[in-house]
Amino acid sequence: MNKVCLLIGTNLGDKMLNLQNSLNMISAKLGRIKIASSVYETEAWGVTNQPSYYNLALEVETKFNPLEVLSITQKIENDLGRVRKERWGARIIDIDIIFFNHEIIELEYLIVPHPRLSERKFVLSPLFEIIPNYLHPILNVTITELHRICLDQLEAKKITSRISFNE
Ligand code: ATP
Ligand code: CA
Ligand code: CA
Repeated sequence: MNKVCLLIGTNLGDKMLNLQNSLNMISAKLGRIKIASSVYETEAWGVTNQPSYYNLALEVETKFNPLEVLSITQKIENDLGRVRKERWGARIIDIDIIFFNHEIIELEYLIVPHPRLSERKFVLSPLFEIIPNYLHPILNVTITELHRICLDQLEAKKITSRISFNE
């Protein structure tokens, strides 16, 4: 079994419901969700004139290989109604592959570890909650350390209510 770490984001419509729907589809199509972080709220990153984001991180156990995981998560995005427009534009759901075991993957359509994770508190805060001791396979430092030194000005605020999903 492979362990894949995903980061889910949403900033359109009913954001809690979008997260819940994506978790249900992930556990049905990709594999068992071993750990889910709390939900974090962050102002939009990159393109700033859009609603705030809700994000959470997951560790999922899956039998699929990295490219299969990418195609399954993209299908889930499409099934939930994601429309692809400008880069970093508002979206119903975004599912990024952050880590895949401890593998380094550099393909045209898939780069793992996710290349921008260390610049983003909205990624590092939920990761710090679920896998603080994971060693970044390229940078060779822990999530705890990346989180501590991250200079991102946009704080990720933890939201108290937790997401429930079908196991
Ligand atoms: P960012 O990658 O900066 O978070 P984004 O999530 O908004 O931006 P998308 O438009 O969702 O970007 O994805 C663009 C492309 O990124 C996808 O079509 C996919 O092929 C590619 N991609 C490369 N590496 C990854 C990864 N680790 N996880 C998901 N998609 C990836
Ligand atoms: Ca993304
Ligand atoms: Ca994406």
